[in-house]
Parts: sequence; structure tokens; C-alpha cells
Amino acid sequence: MIRDHFRVLEMDLGTGRGKIAMHDGRKEYAGGSGLAALLFEKYCRADLPWHAPEQPLIFAIGPLTGYFPLMSKTVCAFKSPYHDQYAESHAGGRSALALRFADLDALVIAGRATRPSCLCVGSHHLELIDVHYLWGKPVDSTGKHLRRMFPGSGHRSILRIGPAGENGSAMAGINVDTYRHFGRLGGGAVMGAKNLKGIVIEGDGAFVLPETKTYAGLFEDVYNKVTRTDMMHKYHNLGTAANLAVLNRLHALPWRNLQQTSDPAITGVTGEKFADDTLLRNAACAGCPVGCIHVGFVREKFTDENQYFYRQIAYDYEPIFAVGTMLGIVDCFAILSIMDAVEKMGLDVMSVGVALAWATEALERAIVSEDETIVPLQFGNAKNYEKAVLHMARGTNEFYRLLNQGTLKAAVHFGGESFACVLGQEMAGYATGEVFYTSQALGLRHSHLDSGGYDYDQKHDEQDVDKAIAFLVEDERDRILLTSMVACLFARKVYTVDLLADCLETIGYRNLAADMEATAKTVQQLRWQNRLDTGFLPEKVTIPQRYGEVTTLKGRTDEAYLKELQRAYAEKIIAMGKPQKA
Ligand code: SF4
Repeated sequence: MIRDHFRVLEMDLGTGRGKIAMHDGRKEYAGGSGLAALLFEKYCRADLPWHAPEQPLIFAIGPLTGYFPLMSKTVCAFKSPYHDQYAESHAGGRSALALRFADLDALVIAGRATRPSCLCVGSHHLELIDVHYLWGKPVDSTGKHLRRMFPGSGHRSILRIGPAGENGSAMAGINVDTYRHFGRLGGGAVMGAKNLKGIVIEGDGAFVLPETKTYAGLFEDVYNKVTRTDMMHKYHNLGTAANLAVLNRLHALPWRNLQQTSDPAITGVTGEKFADDTLLRNAACAGCPVGCIHVGFVREKFTDENQYFYRQIAYDYEPIFAVGTMLGIVDCFAILSIMDAVEKMGLDVMSVGVALAWATEALERAIVSEDETIVPLQFGNAKNYEKAVLHMARGTNEFYRLLNQGTLKAAVHFGGESFACVLGQEMAGYATGEVFYTSQALGLRHSHLDSGGYDYDQKHDEQDVDKAIAFLVEDERDRILLTSMVACLFARKVYTVDLLADCLETIGYRNLAADMEATAKTVQQLRWQNRLDTGFLPEKVTIPQRYGEVTTLKGRTDEAYLKELQRAYAEKIIAMGKPQKA
């Protein structure tokens, strides 16, 4: 059922009670990123730290969720333990469809449970259950237990944290169903601070699709575009892992803590190699006919018998870069084993890989010793990295407690800031040049998905600051429209503005379809306002020296151009975040 207001479940973990609230603003904020920003503005206490019980943990879906293919994401918003400011993280899996079937546009969780708990929400029920016996348990066994507690499948979605989230790591993610995550900026620690081990969303209500011919026709058009044209093929075939060979060839793939951007050893870890040696099957988020999730395996021997079992682990370009090339590991199975350890601990794989790469170089340079790292970290030594992952999650000593709050926090304390590969947070796998470095370092989510800076670098040789900044701002705005719907960003070429307008109109959101440019601008403004209001100072962001030392596809970084881009983008962000006059 479409509605002009948002139907939001507001849950107070302190009292164990929740209530349904209606919020206006569909035309202005659409849903997803827009709704999350709206609810954060309303409920966040900017004067209190991220872990204060009052802080909201928000999950929001969009107006097209459930109606069209690849409208599969949920937006999670919170005050981040990484920087104590506004943060957004996106995940697929079944959570979006489960919220739709539970008849909720958003879930806002505040307060702190008195005991480690699991929150279960459905279309007509709400339960907070004591699960203290799961505290300390890894993500996989927690998932198994919650699946037994809440039998069923289909429209049920299970979110949970591992030890990293319980221990307050700013690199702790929230695992969603199987293979999907709200990975970055520490959402898992926010759940941990709320004593919330799991969230089960039971999509147990009815959801009726329009029965008009226009809707059926448009659905078929979109479906055909994503399955019968080559627009999405690359995501299904080799998947994003295909980028490894491409970026290595371009001298844009970070190796060994970004000491290199290309290496002949790439042959061990290309998308083809992963597919040939490890690929078991493809999986998909609910409502997606593409299936870009590549599931590989690692084989392990039972200790007391001459028998083997195998674990299934999803891989993608970013995790392979982070715990593969960045750590100098060129064996597919070894990379999957590290990913498995990271997954069980409930950590964000990109952040952990980049942090451990810094720690390895710091050990090589004798800035830290084995007294700090506990294990002798060494590029290429996968077994030691698996052990280090456990120390990261548990915060075994002061070194790991600082490192799991962010690489720069450890670097400021021990030294080695110049070679910390941090662009706002641990870098994404694109050493493409100045526009990408600026885009990730200052971008709202510090994500390569904030805007296509990596692509701009590859297509533009001229150094035109105004043009580059205009691109970042406009591309971000286009993506905001998609993340307010909430579409998978892999479908950004399919869902043009015109197609989105048709989709909205067909299901009855005529007002929203009429002026989506205005909606995107409003959401862009509010997101930046939230970030600035919680303390972001874009003009103070620095980019570590390592980015000026390494040779990329464009040669050496032009420091003057990079500084000019940072200055201009910071100015633009401050202007965008100014509250609009009524
Ligand atoms: S393309 Fe991949 S990430 Fe996007 S919705 Fe489909 S399975 Fe999920």
C-alpha cells in the first residue's frame, strides 16, 4: 500500500516498548537515505556521544522497495563510533523486503536493553528477548541459533553482531542474513552499546502489488533490462572481482599497504582465478534477478578424522583487495580463510585489511614491535593475519584496542601517520588519482560509492578543479536519488531519472515523481547538515603522505592539484549543508 507519510516503528530498548509513528515528508525525502537523514535529524542528540543510550539506530527502506527488481537495499543511519558524527551504511539481503512485508518504512531503535537481547519485530508484534547466552558468540553460530529461535524463511531477515560489535570496535559491522553487511563506520558497535545482539524482522504481513497493465508492463521492461541486456552481466559473470586484473593493469590496485599499485603476482588472485578455483555458486539479495554474490569455498580437515568439510564464503572485489593484495596475499583460498575469520568476528573486512596492512609496515619499520602486534605480521603470511583478526575483534591489548578504533588512532599514538591508508576511513581499493582521494576523504560515507571519483580519474587528464567538483556534487546527487528509493547502486545505469519517475508514477507516487531533482537536492542538503551538525570539519581533512609517494595510472600525485580539490570540495560541502530558508 502506498502512502504519503512514513510509517515508522520507534522502539525503546530501555522500556522494552515500541510505538508506531507517522512522519510527513514523502515528497521531500522519498525514503531510504532521505528518510534516514530525516529521522536522524529528529532523534539524534548531537551533544551526546555515539554510545549514549538516547542515540537512534535507524533502518529505512524506500518507496519502490518490493515493487521493482534490485530495489533491495536498506539504509542504516547512526552516530558513528569511528568519528562520532552522522553515518550511513547500506546493505542488501532480505532486510528491505522483510521491512516492507512488516508494513514499516523505517525502524528506529533507541535506549539500551538491560540484558543482551534480540529484538523481533513483525507487522503486528514486537518482542525483546533475553539472549545473554549468545554474548561473545561469533556471527555464524549466533545466526544459526537465531534461525532456530525464529523458524521460517522467505520474508524473515536476521541481523546480528559478533564479538567486535560487543567490544565497541569502530570497525564492527552488522551482518545481514547470509553474505550481506552494514559494514562500514561501526554500526555493529552501536548495536553492542545498546546490548542488542540481534534483530529479527519478520515480514509476516500482506503486501499487494498493483494489478494494472501499466505496472506489469513496466516491471517486465525493467526485468528484461537487467536480465537480457548486457547492462548487468558483468556483475553476474565474474562479478566485481573482475576489477582486480583491470586495476592492476592500470596501476591503480593497492598492494602491500599501497607501496605499489601493480604486481605481476596478480595472476594468483584475478576474478578468473577465483572463479576457476573456488566458485561454488552465485547468490542474490531478495528481489534481485542478477545474483552478483559470488560464493567460494575453503576446505578444512576435521582434526580427529581423515575427513574434510568446506565453508562457503562470499567474495567481491573490495574484500579481495583489502585482505589480499593490500596484505600481499596471492592465494585465493588463503584470502577466503581470512575473510571467514573476519566474518565470524563481525568486523568490516575493508577496514581490517587496510589497518593490518598499516600495522605490518609499522612493524617492518620498527615503529611498533611484536609486543604490540602479538603475532609477527608479515606481508604474504595469511595464517598470522587470521590470528591478528581475532586480536582486532577482541581488542586484546592497547595496540589492537586503538587499531580497531581506526588506523589513524593507532598511528597518532605510535607514529606512522604518513603511511596510514586512510581517506576519511580505511581506503577503498582505487588508487586512481587526486579526484578519488578527495572524493573518499571528504565524501559523506567516506565510500567509493559516494560518487564516481575513481571513474572520473580514469577518464579525465585535464586538471580542472571546478569541473571535477561539479562532477562530485552532481554524481552524489544522482546516487542519492537511487539510495532514497533504495536501489542497488549496481543498477544505476538501468534506473535513469526518467525510469524512476515512471516506476513511482505507476505505483501511485505522482507527487514524488513530479520533481525528483528537488527531492535529491533536499536530501543532499539534509545529509550534509547532519554531518556538519555532528562535528564534521571538511576543511580540516588531511590526506596522508603515502598518496603523494605512490605512482598510479596518472603518475605521481600532483600535490597542488590535490590540495586545490580538497579546498574547493570542503567549501562546497559547507555550502551544501547550510539549512535551507523556509
Ligand atoms: S546486484 Fe548484487 S548487491 Fe545488487 S541487489 Fe543484486 S545481488 Fe544484491
